[in-house]
Amino acid sequence: MFHSVVSLLPLPRRYYAWVVILGLGFAIALSLSTVVSAIANSRLTDIQAVAPDVQLEIRYATTQNFVRRKLYSQARCLLRPRVAGRLAQVQTDLKSQGLGLKVYDCYRPLSVQKQLWQMVPDPNYVADPARGSRHNRGSAVDLTLVDGKGKELEMPSQYDEFSARSHLDYTGGSPVSLKHRQILQRAMHRRGFVSLASEWWHFDAPDWQQYPILDVPLDQNFLR
Ligand SMILES: [Zn+2]
Repeated sequence: MFHSVVSLLPLPRRYYAWVVILGLGFAIALSLSTVVSAIANSRLTDIQAVAPDVQLEIRYATTQNFVRRKLYSQARCLLRPRVAGRLAQVQTDLKSQGLGLKVYDCYRPLSVQKQLWQMVPDPNYVADPARGSRHNRGSAVDLTLVDGKGKELEMPSQYDEFSARSHLDYTGGSPVSLKHRQILQRAMHRRGFVSLASEWWHFDAPDWQQYPILDVPLDQNFLR
């Protein structure tokens, strides 16, 4: 019966066997590429691997933060590879002016966002974990400027100070602090980062939307 059906087909039987083999091969290649892109989507780069002279003061790895609790197991600045590349460029640009960057926060695991939200369930201060923060995507960074000796430069407010002094349109600070804020903003914009009007220290990568929210731990080993 089978033979008689096959004999009715326009091509010899062995050609159909090849079609099946090719189809299977295609399906396997497709699922492999899905796995590879899923791995690529969860990749993070340690900023120290691409810009070792960027200073770290990761506040959530200390109790010196606005919830006064240590929430990170390690003081690391992890970012999406392309975002880390942009930041490395900013560091190089600033170095030619005798300046540099000090980062306060980079990638933040979603589980930490949930802890923050439990402590401070106010969207004015903490992003709702149901929507996630851009820090959860590894595509946002909080940072300031340092001089050639690594000393922090004066800014119009402290980091994570929730007042009008943190706003980009605040003009009441000392002239030198306003100048420093302007240098930081210009240096970050030059490499494509986008500002947040209410926090002079926060910047998003322009393509932040393409990166999914992650909850990989900070002590995981990441390749460059
Ligand atoms: Zn931020």
